[in-house]
Amino acid sequence: MEREIIHLDMDAFYASVEVLDDPSLAGKPVIVGGGRERGVVTSASYEARPFGIHSAQPVASAMRLCPHGIFLPVRMARYQQVSEIIFEIFCRFTPLVEPLSIDEGFLDVTGSRRLFGSAETIAREIRRLVREEVGLTVSAGIASTKFVAKIASDLGKPDGLVCVAHEKTQEFLAPLPITRLWGVGAVTFKALKRMGVATIGDLSRIPGERLRREFGKHGEHLHLLSRGVDPRSVEPHRPVKSMGREETFSEDLTDREALNRELLSLATKVARRVRRHGLTGKTVTLKVKYSDFELVTRSATLDTPTDDAARVYATCGDLLEKTKAGARPVRLLGIYLSRLTSGLPAGQMSLLEDEGGRERRQQLHHALDELAERFGEDAVLPGMLLDKPDR
Ligand SMILES: [Mg+2]
Repeated sequence: MEREIIHLDMDAFYASVEVLDDPSLAGKPVIVGGGRERGVVTSASYEARPFGIHSAQPVASAMRLCPHGIFLPVRMARYQQVSEIIFEIFCRFTPLVEPLSIDEGFLDVTGSRRLFGSAETIAREIRRLVREEVGLTVSAGIASTKFVAKIASDLGKPDGLVCVAHEKTQEFLAPLPITRLWGVGAVTFKALKRMGVATIGDLSRIPGERLRREFGKHGEHLHLLSRGVDPRSVEPHRPVKSMGREETFSEDLTDREALNRELLSLATKVARRVRRHGLTGKTVTLKVKYSDFELVTRSATLDTPTDDAARVYATCGDLLEKTKAGARPVRLLGIYLSRLTSGLPAGQMSLLEDEGGRERRQQLHHALDELAERFGEDAVLPGMLLDKPDR
């Protein structure tokens, strides 16, 4: 039996929530973005898009393109609240809900049809409920595979419903540009273009062996996708793979001491976040974006997992040495912890700590976490950060 998958994606989610909370914004170009001058656009209402506004664009450029736009800061806590209601609606129809982000997800409704009717009926009902209970619009795509469902919902935006019958999948895909396929980035795109491939239909006519020769395993995957074959199933509870924080600075940093301060601040926040989830991480990744937007990452795997800011900070200090940070001005720093597991394995404490030291440290962490919970993250930072003149 063919699967039936619905991809649901809220339309201009953050901007729509802002309009919902302030109806006087309806019909206006609303642009939600990083609070700072150097932040990026995270969401724009459909009224803003004709001006060339799109997400990931620097807010400064958006202000030039659309000077009369209404620029609002990101209110993540509020969007999270709305997101929870939306996902609760999705879950009424199937337990097989895979969130892709705060405002979109896949539903496998193959087994729900006896109870609720066809996938199309379910999608219509969900769209109605989201409109009535939340006051927002959600676009839906229905197909027998995840990637086709996602393309379909995108083509229907905003406020659309696009249904692709299983037997019509290839016909639906054929005229679309290859950039619609997952995994076709700039390099693959150029190589395919040289082979005379512009549409998914063109791609589907290239023999699989040739794609495999050209692109290896990735070529095989592309061959299958172009024919509408995508064996990936809807994964209801995707475990979190990494946790991290990053910061774009209002001025590029070159001073080593300032860079260290930011690293310590990030390490403190990341460690706190990991502890709050009862997790520890074994791999520490440092992300550095230079002023010319070139991005480098450096990783180190610890011998034992950690949730300790000092250890994350020390590791990142070493990793920073392996970059040109300082010699080249730095626009953004980020720290990520991955290979997460729950809790510290017994007997794997640092060799430098005795049992009592470890306990004191955990009590301290606990107290700091509680303070941060009550007064906000910036209330509790290590002493070194307090010297910072503008904090
Ligand atoms: Mg969306």
